[in-house]
Amino acid sequence: MSSTAVAYARQNHPRFLNELKALLRIPSVSTLPEHKGDCRRAAEVLAAELTRIGMEHARLIETAGHPLVYADWLHAAGKPGAPASAAADSSAGWKPTALFYGHYDVQPTDPLDEWVSPPFEPEERNGNLYARGSADDKGQVWAQVKGLESLLAANGKLPLNVRVLLEGEEEVGGEGIARFVASKPAELKADFALVSDTELFAPGLPTLCVGLRGMIYTELEVRGAKSDLHSGMYGGAAPNPFVSLAQILAKLKDENGHILIPGFYDDIIAPSPEELAAWRSLPFDEEQYRITEVGSRTLVGEASYSVLERTWARPTLDVHGIPGGFTGAGAKTVIPAKAVAKVSMRLVPGMTTAKAFALYKGFVEQIAPGGVDVEVRLISAGEPCLIPVDNTYVRAATRALKEVWGKETVFIRSGGSIPIVGDFDRHLGMPSVMMGFGLPDDNIHAPNEKFHLKNFELGIESIVRFLEEAGR
Ligand SMILES: [Zn+2]
Repeated sequence: MSSTAVAYARQNHPRFLNELKALLRIPSVSTLPEHKGDCRRAAEVLAAELTRIGMEHARLIETAGHPLVYADWLHAAGKPGAPASAAADSSAGWKPTALFYGHYDVQPTDPLDEWVSPPFEPEERNGNLYARGSADDKGQVWAQVKGLESLLAANGKLPLNVRVLLEGEEEVGGEGIARFVASKPAELKADFALVSDTELFAPGLPTLCVGLRGMIYTELEVRGAKSDLHSGMYGGAAPNPFVSLAQILAKLKDENGHILIPGFYDDIIAPSPEELAAWRSLPFDEEQYRITEVGSRTLVGEASYSVLERTWARPTLDVHGIPGGFTGAGAKTVIPAKAVAKVSMRLVPGMTTAKAFALYKGFVEQIAPGGVDVEVRLISAGEPCLIPVDNTYVRAATRALKEVWGKETVFIRSGGSIPIVGDFDRHLGMPSVMMGFGLPDDNIHAPNEKFHLKNFELGIESIVRFLEEAGR
């Protein structure tokens, strides 16, 4: 099928790429207060561009943190958000409404000296665009915007109704958008969401993500003496919170990767035999993955599960950092008064954040050694989710991807968490099509993040063709 919008995208690709570079130069690091203004600037650039390409009602929606960006175009036939029932399908000209989602915020850049080119000065090398946020997620957001531009410029209209909702706090828990979605505003009424924040399973292999792990992120604080003490005068009698913390952490997970919190695995819904069979046929080599992606001596974890099962369908428990105490050069003989660990757990379908947190908190309190007080704090939470593969929008996406990439789509899950997908499902009753164009080695959240240039190009074409298929 020839698409004038795809032709427009091809003609204008050099400009699209230059515009993306300009967006990447804005250091919209959401977690650092000194970049608050940059986050707002990125949001303003997106709102202005959405207006320029012909989207309407573009505006920033204020939150307690960084603003959301909203825009819509609702002139296709049909009532936005009306159910796609058989009756609606047969009524003349009914068109569905899509809700586009992506995020304009990025992760911090440290360690800065490991970047080959500076993180906010985009550089093309080996067919890739290197910059912080290139793949996660500005490159994908820009692919969405340029897909919309191509359709509007080539046809003067969109094949269906579209709302756009972008956030600036995805990398810091997404509080603002979660609260906004939970309030079920009329302006988010839609039939499905298009979420572009995932990756292809392998280069050139069109991929739809249909499952995500959830997460609880916590702080575990252990307090001993009323103040820091001299380890010579008091060592042996005063409790040491760091030692107690290490003892607690060591009891949470065994050396085989099994989490020891009682009841933690009870509610897990295991993947079906069909889904497991499909995973086994994916082009994936565990030894290759160990060498190229992980780079460790061996892989760890539950030996009776494959790596894909361990990362997609099994929960985790990880420690991210243990700040505090004396960490300077030389020696200081102190018994710190308190120690803190950042601990998170990834959750899989069947589990809930509320129950997982309650089990974890109760277990930590139970195993805490004498002499210390423990406090477990929840920092952020997102539910796991699973998208039914059998819906019209997933089928439309599969047709579009096959045409653009020349291959059948593979259905995968992701070990990561995109809490908003669960929120769309729970609060707005809408399925998400997770169509993303990153690659497994894009170094997201790490030095030398990149976006494969071909994926930016085919990503735009995929979004164009998906909307055309979904609006047919
Ligand atoms: Zn992302």
